Amino acid sequence: MKILVTGGAGFIGSHVVDAFIEEGHEVVVVDNLSTGFKENINPKARFYEISVVDKGLSEIFNKERPDIVNHHAAQTDVRKSVDDSIFDAEQNIIGSLNVIDNSVKHGVKKLIYASTGGALYGEVENPPADEGHLISPLSNYGVSKYATEVYLSVYTKLHGLNYTILRYANVYGPRQNPFGEAGVVAIFAGQLLSNEQPTIFGDGSKTRDYVSVFDVVRANVISLTKGENEAYNIGTGIETSDKEVFDAVAKIVDVKIEPKYASARPGEVNRISLNSTRAERELGWKPGVTFKDGVAETVTYFRNHL
Ligand code: NAD
Repeated sequence: MKILVTGGAGFIGSHVVDAFIEEGHEVVVVDNLSTGFKENINPKARFYEISVVDKGLSEIFNKERPDIVNHHAAQTDVRKSVDDSIFDAEQNIIGSLNVIDNSVKHGVKKLIYASTGGALYGEVENPPADEGHLISPLSNYGVSKYATEVYLSVYTKLHGLNYTILRYANVYGPRQNPFGEAGVVAIFAGQLLSNEQPTIFGDGSKTRDYVSVFDVVRANVISLTKGENEAYNIGTGIETSDKEVFDAVAKIVDVKIEPKYASARPGEVNRISLNSTRAERELGWKPGVTFKDGVAETVTYFRNHL
């Protein structure tokens, strides 16, 4: 099959591209390199440097005629979404709508959308949250990611578009940006390997659900043939605190550095984990990489790439 991957130069998208190519598919990457890197792009993929917001996207669809679209391109910085909600909406709502609209116009058989679980459900009282949990975002990023989900369901009713939505937990692994705002496994690994003292915002007890990028990739591969017009949480259901992440990374890096603590950042939930039993039941997906193994693999990557 021919698959067009948006955001294929980024952390998750580039691993998805590698897996599709490994499976024998032809892959076209669309990315504006705003946070992605050319070096991440599999040399067997055809690359177009263009924003998903750009009207010229339709020429690429027209020329390439993809069977499947896998949409990973997004503005992913939660704090930026709060500081500049219009930019966030342009990239994540208008950009996604341009991708969805072109998919319908050019007869794409299916659109796989990388959504978020962590930023949709808001504060979760009794984690893990399943897909039926109240949608109550605490950031504009959560709003823009969810708006795209709603458009997808409307485009199905209006135009018969076929889609799968994957709501990721906190994804970690090789190629995550260690200098970014989010992604504490990569940030702590980068800092500890450089003998810097990492900062934990809050008292270290805030929890997240960490899912390996390789498990996320597998969910994308399965979605090529399964998951009819449905949203699936892709997480482990396990809560890991910031301090536990720090300790796990420090142990593998093998350094004796204690973290600094700073005040908690506003707009962040205290606890979250995702219940992925729907994905297990309907997609046959469940996480396979333990946090310990995933952290070790990530640290090894950063040892070789920092
Ligand atoms: P990333 O920043 O590494 O990847 C995003 C990619 O999209 C980059 O290559 C960037 O250059 C590209 N991009 C951004 N805006 C674009 C535009 N307007 N046009 C074309 N390309 C554009 O981030 P990531 O962590 O790999 O995230 C990928 C997707 O997964 C995003 O949609 C994000 O919302 C979603 N997601 C990520 C996580 C996580 O924990 N990393 C969790 C939930 C959902």
